[in-house]
Amino acid sequence: VMDTDAGQSADKLTVAGLRISSGDRVVYPDAGITKAQVAEYYAALADRILPFAADRPLSLLRLPEGLKGETFFQKHAGKGFPDALREMALEESDGGTASYMYVTDAAGLVGAAQMGALELHIWGSRRDRLDRPDRMVFDLDPDPGLGFADVTAAASDLRDRLEALGLPSWPLLSGGKGVHVVVPLRRVAGWDTVKLYARIFATLLASEEPDRFVATMSKAKRKGRIFIDWLRNERGATAIAPYSLRARAGAPVAVPVRWDDLRGYDSAQVFDLPRVQAGDIPDPELPDPGSLTEPRISALEAAL
Ligand code: ATP
Ligand code: MN
Ligand code: MN
Repeated sequence: VMDTDAGQSADKLTVAGLRISSGDRVVYPDAGITKAQVAEYYAALADRILPFAADRPLSLLRLPEGLKGETFFQKHAGKGFPDALREMALEESDGGTASYMYVTDAAGLVGAAQMGALELHIWGSRRDRLDRPDRMVFDLDPDPGLGFADVTAAASDLRDRLEALGLPSWPLLSGGKGVHVVVPLRRVAGWDTVKLYARIFATLLASEEPDRFVATMSKAKRKGRIFIDWLRNERGATAIAPYSLRARAGAPVAVPVRWDDLRGYDSAQVFDLPRVQAGDIPDPELPDPGSLTEPRISALEAAL
């Protein structure tokens, strides 16, 4: 698809030093939000996003034509991507190498928007120590029949269980249907340990409360329950980045919230682009880095 050559002003649009092409293209038709507004959103939110998303491999959900067009989940850098969207070569399990994307600054985020990205998805480890994750994520995926109150109650229960295991966490409204419970980690354990820990934790919870939780992906078993998706916790897996837009009607945003406020939200989509850009968002309460620990399988076995 060609750029429109109509947009004299839009054609000259520059955000964070990057030229934005087709800036006047409407990408969220219902909300009337343009590609330029998406780029400006990411520039405006850079200070909030970068502490979570900088210096780690990033996948992009690209919708070059907006919500009405095709969707591409892109893990690897492509030809013609702006330099601000940096590249790093990583070894693959098959022994080959592949080029992954990462950002370090606002220009990188805007570069992603220039390539038609609406959503940013992050790895659980950073560039300088890719084999030592700094976060463990429990992605709560409710069966469509459940109310959001069931999801927030479940998230709070996970919080209490994790706290009892010495693991403080924080909640994120996904901007879709669910809540993510994120455990920041000291970078001690490797992926095998973190994945095993997440799997055992989810499986034990599901076996204790089989009417509320499942720990397997099967949609049939999910009926009336919440899938505790622990599979985000492996090398190469991603989760939505905090303050990323979602490619859904209404331009909802994934937003970290406070545990005390969580039950007051009636949906995972209460924050949208205009609201977040206006700064009408909670200050997240992230655990003090000094309090962070590593997941210990032995502690898990003893506590549950
Ligand atoms: P919701 O709250 O609606 O579940 P979510 O972001 O948690 O929103 P999920 O479907 O539960 O969505 O999680 C899927 C995760 O898997 C995404 O966050 C993304 O990082 C990752 N992912 C891996 N491959 C893809 C893909 N091809 N398309 C979309 N997401 C993918
Ligand atoms: Mn989910
Ligand atoms: Mn999921």
